[in-house]
Amino acid sequence: AAAGGRRYLDGLNPEQRAAVEAIDGPVLVLAGAGTGKTRVLTTRIAHILAEGRARAHEILAVTFTNKAAREMRDRVALLAGPVGEGMPWLGTFHAISTKILRRHAELVGLKSSFTILDTDDQIRLLKQVLKAEDIDDKRWPARSLAYQIDAWKNRGLDPAHVPAGEAAAFANGKGGRLYALYQERLKILNAADFGDLLLETLRLFKENPDVLKQYQDRFKYMLVDEYQDTNTVQYLWLRLLAQGRHNVCCVGDDDQSIYGWRGAEVDNILRFESDFPGAKVIRLERNYRSTGHILAVAAGLIAHNQGRLGKTLFTDDEAGLMPTVTGVWDSEEEARGIGEEIEQLARKGHAYDEVAILVRASFQMREFEERFITLGLPYRVIGGPRFYERAEIRDALAYLRCVAQPADDLAFERIYNTPRRGLGESTLQQLHEYGRLQRVPLIEAARFMIETDEIKPKQRQALRDLLANFSRWASLIGEKPHGELTEMILEESGYTDMWRKDRTAEAAGRLENLKELVRAMEEFPDLAAFLEHISLVMEAETKDAGPRVSIMTLHAAKGLEFETVFLPGWEEGLFPHQRSLDESGRAGLEEERRLAYVGITRARRRAKIYFATNRRIHGLWQTTIPSRFLDELPPDHVEVVEAATGAAYGGYAQSRFANMDSFGSTYGTPGWRRAQRRTEETRAESGASSGGGFARKTSQRGPMQIEGELIAKSSA
Ligand code: ATP
Ligand code: MG
Repeated sequence: AAAGGRRYLDGLNPEQRAAVEAIDGPVLVLAGAGTGKTRVLTTRIAHILAEGRARAHEILAVTFTNKAAREMRDRVALLAGPVGEGMPWLGTFHAISTKILRRHAELVGLKSSFTILDTDDQIRLLKQVLKAEDIDDKRWPARSLAYQIDAWKNRGLDPAHVPAGEAAAFANGKGGRLYALYQERLKILNAADFGDLLLETLRLFKENPDVLKQYQDRFKYMLVDEYQDTNTVQYLWLRLLAQGRHNVCCVGDDDQSIYGWRGAEVDNILRFESDFPGAKVIRLERNYRSTGHILAVAAGLIAHNQGRLGKTLFTDDEAGLMPTVTGVWDSEEEARGIGEEIEQLARKGHAYDEVAILVRASFQMREFEERFITLGLPYRVIGGPRFYERAEIRDALAYLRCVAQPADDLAFERIYNTPRRGLGESTLQQLHEYGRLQRVPLIEAARFMIETDEIKPKQRQALRDLLANFSRWASLIGEKPHGELTEMILEESGYTDMWRKDRTAEAAGRLENLKELVRAMEEFPDLAAFLEHISLVMEAETKDAGPRVSIMTLHAAKGLEFETVFLPGWEEGLFPHQRSLDESGRAGLEEERRLAYVGITRARRRAKIYFATNRRIHGLWQTTIPSRFLDELPPDHVEVVEAATGAAYGGYAQSRFANMDSFGSTYGTPGWRRAQRRTEETRAESGASSGGGFARKTSQRGPMQIEGELIAKSSA
């Protein structure tokens, strides 16, 4: 029946083909990384169209990111040719919900032109709510409430359905009421926050069966990628729609569930079969992405997780190159080593856009960005801003400029009310007017104005305090080491505290970034030199559109693939991240391990893991413990590369023992005991001699002596 001869089916293996052709009824494709899950979804859309089973706009496909949606759209067009009128509804849950919600906004008390609030707006609004209720925002910060409300929304709970115990936990029992008030305010403002996009669509469907029916009828076929990372509200949303025609196909991999901290429920995979009786479950086992050694390393690592559905994975590809583990002295040497490796690859003709650096925490990007700018190596940061363009970094730099370069009006405007000190638009307007009139910078205008009665007393006092701080901090330039001074400024201005009170996961990352900023500046002789450096770095934005190396977090790398993948920072505390361990214990550790699995399985031919044996924290060098995940990699498939600085595995085993006492509580778990025993065994096996990989000598050299030295790599 199909026009185009079903060429798109060529090359699929029998299981993939079955998954593509089983277009009627519920289908769950449960399969490991790189087995072609996304490819199956794309081909299914082409198949449905080619078979004439539905027209494009009768197909709904959900991707995890907007970028993935764009890619899928292009692929479908390529496979299916011109698809007639319209395109499939293809996008993230949020994008698709927004589209539906705008069409029926009035049914949930909004106008179709409703605005979508970002986090800042959300906080501002919650502060108003708290104030109106006379609740002390110092004790009960708006940010905590925002976090709590988001969590409720992710679980599909509107104010009426929040469990009493949870509602009681905030502001002496007022949590639920505040949530309700906040929702009311949103409606008055004709606004929705991010969580509302889904929750309100769900409500729309529940309260308006006719509307639900309309969409159930429309979407003849539904497809969902990265199903393991759907949260409850997304799940409920999906289930409602799919209960129309039952033609829903979800693809996922429980081993790649990495958004538990944001409310994702991997159990949705298990619920699928009970919610959709008769669902066809298809497993794909052949990996088409990676070579044998890479796959073996990924499989060996993830086998340490207990809560798994379990899957087989094999490749018909060659064994290829073994993933490498390289120990370096510190993060600077790590960036230098990776930069060097990339240049070598480029000289051999490898394209920059086939290389990615996947970090655990965004602060790690700083060192790579600076190194690449120095080398003139084209790069881009995916899924977020570049390090020095991050909001918290810009804020911190603005403070420094206000202190060191007080004529900087933009800097002043940026932070004069961040954190909030009651200085609004109108005061700023007054300063601007005076500044324009007298042709002086804002700060100078402010100095004059606080001596007059033109500004209201409360604002005047706030401004006076701020200016006094600026002067005091300025007087410390040259007196106090500039790194310390910066920390003092961020502390005393209340800026750091603003983020500390914020309970979202992003806030913790921002605090790490601020620390990294201080670390970066300590490499410069003084504040002026550092600020000068920043201007240069900011200007260095590569304008050319050519291929570039990608730098991104592991979380952002899901679903992507590259020929060469660098995985830096495999150290205890960083990866696995201490926060996950502290907050979620064993579950947190398993999620970190899945993240490592995601990282390794992004690589087609080369996976290169790095760890540094030292990190500079507050100007002091501290020895780090290499990640326990290194212990868990199957040794037969890993090549240990020794850096010229001699920091390879040697530091690894030894520092584990050296630090055992101080880490006793964290690692006093069965997991640690096992790791300890394994390390002991390996040490015994390899003896004190070389070659074992674990027992290499630790470098005694300090960071000053390694200046200018390059990393020697054994040929890979
Ligand atoms: P992930 O779990 O990482 O999202 P996935 O299961 O979605 O992976 P895909 O990205 O669809 O896997 O496929 C991985 C790679 O294998 C892609 O480059 C894809 O083009 C290729 N591939 C998939 N199936 C086949 C096949 N039958 N023949 C050749 N190449 C294939
Ligand atoms: Mg995929």
